[in-house]
Amino acid sequence: MIDLRDKKVLVVGLGKTGQSVLPVLERLGARIQATDSRASPPDIDALKSRHPSIEWRLGGFDPAVFADQDLIVVSPGLAQSDPAFVRARAAGVRIIGDIELFYALAQAPIVAITGSNGKSTVTTLVAEMAAAAGLKMKAGGNLGTPALELLPQAGEQVGLYVLELSSFQLELIESFRPRVAAVLNLSEDHMDRYAGFADYVAAKARIFANMQPGDTLVLNGTDAATTALAAQAPRGVQVVLFGRKIPAGSGNVRVLDQGFGEYLTLDGAQGSSYAVLPVHALQILGEHNLENAMAAVAIAFAAGVPLPAAASALKSFRGLPHRMVKVAEINRVSYFNDSKGTNVGATAKALAGLPGPVIPILGGDCKGADLRPLRQALEGKARAAILIGRDAPLIETVIQGVVPIHQVSSMPEAVKLAAELARPGDQVLLSPACASLDMFRDYAERGRVFSEAVQQLPGERA
Ligand code: ADP
Repeated sequence: MIDLRDKKVLVVGLGKTGQSVLPVLERLGARIQATDSRASPPDIDALKSRHPSIEWRLGGFDPAVFADQDLIVVSPGLAQSDPAFVRARAAGVRIIGDIELFYALAQAPIVAITGSNGKSTVTTLVAEMAAAAGLKMKAGGNLGTPALELLPQAGEQVGLYVLELSSFQLELIESFRPRVAAVLNLSEDHMDRYAGFADYVAAKARIFANMQPGDTLVLNGTDAATTALAAQAPRGVQVVLFGRKIPAGSGNVRVLDQGFGEYLTLDGAQGSSYAVLPVHALQILGEHNLENAMAAVAIAFAAGVPLPAAASALKSFRGLPHRMVKVAEINRVSYFNDSKGTNVGATAKALAGLPGPVIPILGGDCKGADLRPLRQALEGKARAAILIGRDAPLIETVIQGVVPIHQVSSMPEAVKLAAELARPGDQVLLSPACASLDMFRDYAERGRVFSEAVQQLPGERA
């Protein structure tokens, strides 16, 4: 239990996460100040009337206020390079995020999931598996409901928490200890916030830093950077792997064909293995989603979900919106919305999962990423590439010579051109490898605009 009675606590950032922190601190009896760089953050009037005793400091960060606290609870979206944080740190102020506060208050075991891609999909899958098993489970974190809002209401019982965590959230933990943790994969993302890939990986690796003997760490067995983390696991933590072609090992999940077609299987002790589900029974598309399914089985099983419950949840899962969703088939051309493909690793997987020829729509805010892996992903797979958004010129210089390139200035234009370039049997794929904020409110709006433009195309529909 954390004792914050009469302690001075500053909440930095008043988005969804910051708003979830305020009532919790009030219940703990803290003396709260709340700050945001925006003079008028969303919902501020409602917040002020809901929390009359909080002192508001809006429209900028005051280093003197930051330095004069017992604790700062900061939202993960904020870079901590701001001088106010530097000053607070120099003054010895403890700085944490919502996940550490959640951990101090949560009484049920926690499953925590991170990685560059697939977090939301796997978190949702594990949650559905746990629900199918009848566990009193609550899921959230970086996905959906902020962690603190998952804490039980009066009379409510929670048996298991399933959390999706970002690298930003993991930077802000101290003692957070999940019983089961997973790192799904590691590829460059958010290079505008990290000094380099090693720093980003180190932030992700914090997810298992406090694990204890008997806890389970689930790692991708085919992604070398992720598999290598096994060497850093604390003593006594059981490491299990998932991947299509990985060696056998107790708790590992892989694909086996023992004469009845390909099955997703989980290895038991002493060389036994359990067939969980035929691969063809999965409704989610692409090799990356097979990986997500394997990861979810390994995680859920380690968290105590029986395999039949895991299998039944897998069978009925149709995927999340804006993640590799087939929008339409027009004139024998398929259109896929993977707007959530916001980094190079995700887009490379999306391309690899389609038979081709593909006409990808790429671009947006590339967040300083190394775009060179796109070359290989496009080679031999893409008929042409259509570029949109702020970093279109940057992408053009990197992929020049690999495929014909077209720059356009809007999504409807991109869709129209893709339809003109496509031949029967092709796939048009929106998986931009970049963030959307230069042109859209978020990836969901980008995906909607794409889907609407596709719906308006003339032609014969399947
Ligand atoms: P996250 O929550 O990590 O952003 P999502 O489940 O929302 O992950 O998927 C985001 C995008 O990442 C998808 O649209 C897809 O392009 C890609 N993706 C999903 N799973 C994987 C995976 N296992 N490996 C690589 N890319 C993936």
